[in-house]
Amino acid sequence: MAELKADVLVLGAGMVGVSAALHLQQRGRDVILVDSHTLAGEETSFGNAGLIECASVFPYMFPRDFAQILRYAMNRAPQVRYRFADLPAFLPWLARYFIASAPERALRSAMAELPLIRRSLFEHEALIAEAGVPELLQRTGWIKLFRSDATLANASAELERARQYGVAGEILDGKAIAEREPGLTGDFAGAVYLPAPGFVPDPGGLTKAYAALFQRKGGRFVVGDARTLQQDAGGWRMAGRDGAAVAREAVVALGPWSDLVFRPLGYPIPLGVKRGYHLHLESRGNAVLNHPVLDSDLGYLLAPMNRGIRLTTGVEFARRDAPPTPVQIQRALPLAHALFPLGDAVDAKPWIGARPCLPDMLPVIGKAPRHAGLWFDFGHQHHGLTLGPATGRLLAEMMTGEAPFADPAPFAAERFG
Ligand SMILES: Cc1cc2nc3c(=O)[nH]c(=O)nc-3n(C[C@H](O)[C@H](O)[C@H](O)COP(=O)(O)OP(=O)(O)OC[C@H]3O[C@@H](n4cnc5c(N)ncnc54)[C@H](O)[C@@H]3O)c2cc1C
Repeated sequence: MAELKADVLVLGAGMVGVSAALHLQQRGRDVILVDSHTLAGEETSFGNAGLIECASVFPYMFPRDFAQILRYAMNRAPQVRYRFADLPAFLPWLARYFIASAPERALRSAMAELPLIRRSLFEHEALIAEAGVPELLQRTGWIKLFRSDATLANASAELERARQYGVAGEILDGKAIAEREPGLTGDFAGAVYLPAPGFVPDPGGLTKAYAALFQRKGGRFVVGDARTLQQDAGGWRMAGRDGAAVAREAVVALGPWSDLVFRPLGYPIPLGVKRGYHLHLESRGNAVLNHPVLDSDLGYLLAPMNRGIRLTTGVEFARRDAPPTPVQIQRALPLAHALFPLGDAVDAKPWIGARPCLPDMLPVIGKAPRHAGLWFDFGHQHHGLTLGPATGRLLAEMMTGEAPFADPAPFAAERFG
């Protein structure tokens, strides 16, 4: 069988891997993109809420408020749920997440990521223009609804903090909510409207459009199992479905599956997952949803995707490969029907995905410390659609010896020993 040779193997064709491949290609590298699926963007990068969250300065932290922790511990809160049977598997991870969410540490993580967040939409705009898919970026911004004065007050305070970092936002009262979203019904204390974030009405389609651009520019896509990756004298080799692929360098961009490669190589990186679900529904009559809308206090989001209104859930802590338990979808469905005129489900069953997460809320980007030519680009948490292109640029700059646009030190794998 033929042996394919390139400069770099990028393992994983989600938004993160495809973006890294494009940025390496732009810098003259011959790249082979590898995935176990025959198409790019079939996993986590397919199922998200479609937000390019350039206004998301502060990461999703473990709560510090005892009453809220207790509410989550009771396992009745819509925002967060956990599989009791899996508790021993993720409790140590949660403890690290709790520690990293102390205000001064979380702020350090936020400041490390800020240059990437600021760059996120700009990088997408450039790739979308080159890929020729302007219809996949809508400039609607998004709305977070609040049903209690207390949660609205918290959100207003957070918006004030975010304004210091250049985030624009507006507090909406009931009348302003109705003007922006005439189809909504409910008793709202108010809302926060964030105008700057982009909305992608088909995130899997956008990942595929970027992969098509990569292939148009001469990049190759190989179907194969990244677990076959091996180091050899020339660099790195893996078994593709139609033959081996070899390159001097390799990038692990396998999202929630990245541990399948780094763990056998001996790296103790604490990659965890926050699972999530989605279900598409028809809208009834002439009802139109103009923006993605988060029903914050009730813990679900509605986004007007091309396929229908996508209801996405909050976080489920469970083993990545545990069977799906779409309880949050079941709980959110009647609430969503009361919020917006929804019809039948478009999908036969809920989709499940897993946000790849590190406890300090930052991705791992950079060199594998003990293996020449191996690079990491994973752990993008709630923001992998947002940050894929920006982190692809950062990684490619590091790999090609360019001055990186952001300080890469906080993302180094060495931070986990
Ligand atoms: C419900 C939900 C809502 C979200 N909403 C948003 C949002 O609005 N905005 C945002 O920015 N982010 C959002 N996210 C997060 C975002 O989707 C992820 O951070 C992002 O998709 C991760 O991208 P990735 O490329 O790292 O992983 P993936 O997209 O999962 O890509 C990994 C790739 O690796 C491949 N692979 C796995 N194992 C192997 C193997 N053995 N061999 C070869 N290939 C393999 C997979 O097939 C896959 O293509 C959301 C996530 C969820 C679950």
